[in-house]
Amino acid sequence: MGCFFAFGGKMIVMKFGGTSVEDTAAIDRSCRIVIERLHRQPFVVVSAMAGVTNDLLEAGRLAGSGKISESLEFFERLERRHEEFLPKGDLTNLLGLLHWINEAGEFSPRAQDSVAAWGEDLCSEIFARALRRLGIEAIHIDARDFIVTDRNFGNARPLWDKTFKKFQIIPEFFKETNRTALVMGGFIGSAVEDGETTTLGRGGSDYSAAIVGAAMGAEEIQIWTDVDGMMTADPKIVSTARTIRCLSFAEASELASFGAKVLHPRTLEPAMDKNIPVYVFNSRNPGGAGTRITRDAVPCQNIVKSIACKRDVSVITVETSRMLKAVGFLGKLFTILESIGVSVDMVATSEVSVSFTLDDSSKGPQVLDALRRPHWAVSLENNLGLACLVGNDLKWTPGIAARVFGSIREFHVRMISHGASMTNLAFLVRRQQLEEAVHRLHSEFFSEFDPKVFAEPG
Ligand code: ADP
Ligand code: ASP
Ligand code: MG
Repeated sequence: MGCFFAFGGKMIVMKFGGTSVEDTAAIDRSCRIVIERLHRQPFVVVSAMAGVTNDLLEAGRLAGSGKISESLEFFERLERRHEEFLPKGDLTNLLGLLHWINEAGEFSPRAQDSVAAWGEDLCSEIFARALRRLGIEAIHIDARDFIVTDRNFGNARPLWDKTFKKFQIIPEFFKETNRTALVMGGFIGSAVEDGETTTLGRGGSDYSAAIVGAAMGAEEIQIWTDVDGMMTADPKIVSTARTIRCLSFAEASELASFGAKVLHPRTLEPAMDKNIPVYVFNSRNPGGAGTRITRDAVPCQNIVKSIACKRDVSVITVETSRMLKAVGFLGKLFTILESIGVSVDMVATSEVSVSFTLDDSSKGPQVLDALRRPHWAVSLENNLGLACLVGNDLKWTPGIAARVFGSIREFHVRMISHGASMTNLAFLVRRQQLEEAVHRLHSEFFSEFDPKVFAEPG
């Protein structure tokens, strides 16, 4: 991340996720949250309305597999969802795109990005119009004009220097008035060279917000979602989960990477780089304290701050007697994984074998294929779940492992990773036992604390 300019005045980035823009009431609520912060010069990033990205991708998939009439049912559903906000003709080009995909007979990664981007394109236009109706000079900007990425369709990476350069014109927009908000669709970028539409990966609007924050030298990056901040566990799994007031970048990154969907795993990279605080707030409860994520960990009475989990994890094991005292085996293995674009979350090794988890379990068969070598016995295990405890000082705290594994003593634990980072202890169990494991860990580590003082500074 080379070139960077700091915006002279104050400005903040406010990102609203799918449920915060899912219907008229949600859009109105989110617009009012923006209006209350106009004096801070908000750059608003919005997701597609909840469920729209899935519907768009389903429409594209059906069109690509020759089922155009079923695809058009999804199109009509999308049209109905948006018709209360936009003139009907605004979706004509999407209809054309679906017919084109149908004729091509495939839904390529490129076409997937062009189709998926429609959700954010429409929603950002709708959000800007809603602000204007409330008397705000909302300026809609196209993410493609600002976020320049590589050509990795479906999981594109920003090209920092090019992207930061584009943002240099943004302060001009804020100069004239303090009634201005900028509105941009998240998730979308444009490929270097030809400007073709790319996307940053599912859930990528959080990452877009952080990219904008870093490019603008923002005062803070606010992620507005449907829960009261980052919590001690996914509240959909543990109903008694509590909001964590403060987290360090390192802790929040571990949580996001190990399954806490509330933040896209890459969100904190640009924020960390420019040392910009990130807040997670609830758009349905805007008065709540939310979670503040900053560089330094705040001392708090809880050693474990949160428990993240991932369902449907796969493990690959490579066994070979040639590994015994051999040099370079792991190097060779990871070079192969790199060549097929597979990234690994957890690794465990013994004298003659190595096991690792895949961050995308659908790639299991492809990895098995790529690792077929003489003298290597390769196997794939599916249906596992990963639980991960995060806390600033876990590595040096005695007795943690005993409490963790004592609370799930009768469970079959498949793989353990502890001590590589200061902040996490992760392990695998059978997929069916994952939720129960998270419940038990939550009771073990959080039952004795007063929710009101949980993770307060001091
Ligand atoms: P948005 O549409 O706003 O981007 P997401 O659905 O992507 O929202 O993320 C919010 C969801 O993340 C919450 O509804 C919650 O179920 C889930 N989640 C998982 N782990 C956590 C956690 N530790 N803290 C808060 N929410 C979590
Ligand atoms: N709309 C995109 C998705 O559903 C991006 C996002 O919501 O952050 O994955
Ligand atoms: Mg999200």
